[in-house]
Amino acid sequence: MSQDLVTFLNARLDEEADLARRCDGDGCGEWTAHGHTVDFCQGELPGFHPTIARHVALHDPARVLREVEAKRRVLARHVLSPATGDPELPWENRDDCQYDGETWPCDDLLDLAAPYAGHPDYPRPA
Ligand SMILES: [Zn+2]
Repeated sequence: MSQDLVTFLNARLDEEADLARRCDGDGCGEWTAHGHTVDFCQGELPGFHPTIARHVALHDPARVLREVEAKRRVLARHVLSPATGDPELPWENRDDCQYDGETWPCDDLLDLAAPYAGHPDYPRPA
């Protein structure tokens, strides 16, 4: 796993951000749901179950881009602090997360990756 997980997560975040940007090419505003209809700013689409309409509107491109940026900040904090083999270091030749000191990849990184577990490129432990 190790750095493969970071590469994998960055690729998924890049894909999500790219798709969100392409859905909001003119920066028109927020998607909203009105009963069975979703207003995509560039047009409305009726025929949704109201709960599904709300779910679709919740995935407004601007919100997705904010979520991607928040995940990138989490990813940036939880970087590998590689063991160097220095006997003076307290972590005993273990690769740690620089942010929380957990064995790397830490639980926060694994949780970021968990939604993509079904992806064909999901890194599996060796
Ligand atoms: Zn961590």
